[in-house]
Amino acid sequence: MGGDTPRIGVLALQGDVREHRLVLERLGAEVVDVRRPSELATVDGLVLPGGESSAIDKLARRFGMQEPIRTAIAGGLPVYGTCAGLILLADRVIGAIDGQQTFGGLDVTVTRNAFGAQAESFEADLDVEGWDRPVRAAFIRAPVVTQVGAGVRALATLPGGEVVAVEAGNLLGTAFHPEVSGDARFHERFLERVRAAPRRR
Ligand code: GLN
Repeated sequence: MGGDTPRIGVLALQGDVREHRLVLERLGAEVVDVRRPSELATVDGLVLPGGESSAIDKLARRFGMQEPIRTAIAGGLPVYGTCAGLILLADRVIGAIDGQQTFGGLDVTVTRNAFGAQAESFEADLDVEGWDRPVRAAFIRAPVVTQVGAGVRALATLPGGEVVAVEAGNLLGTAFHPEVSGDARFHERFLERVRAAPRRR
């Protein structure tokens, strides 16, 4: 492993862990599954995959991962969350199940399953601020960001105005799944952030 190879953890409790691993490996990262605090302590960045946010939350608490992840986020660890992962980063969630918690850190309100039954899943070409060609985005029972706090940048919106990609400091979140549609640019953006961050290990 070269000194410049970032070591990225994918929180592997539930969800589309494999898809993230493939994209990140293609981009030259070393990728490890993260299920325990000792594994979290070894990574330069963390991906929270898509899946079911309430299930990931429950498992994270059962595995003693909630506090370590909150501490890592507060300490500046770069984290990228897709879909359920975005929900887990949000400070506030509308439509959460009873008792559902998040790691938080991202000053946004996210509404779960925002497209309801009329559009369980769909794809769209999205313009992203500063990018020269749109991203093909797969939305699967996706949330939207319904309120954006000060210091949070909206990176992409749907034609209806719904915010679906946000960035703030060390945190990046997309309501869609670039790891499914095969567009690596959000992962690249995340890895740039990881490379720029002070090394934690
Ligand atoms: N609807 C899911 C949730 O609330 C997210 C769906 C996804 O990650 N594709 O967790």
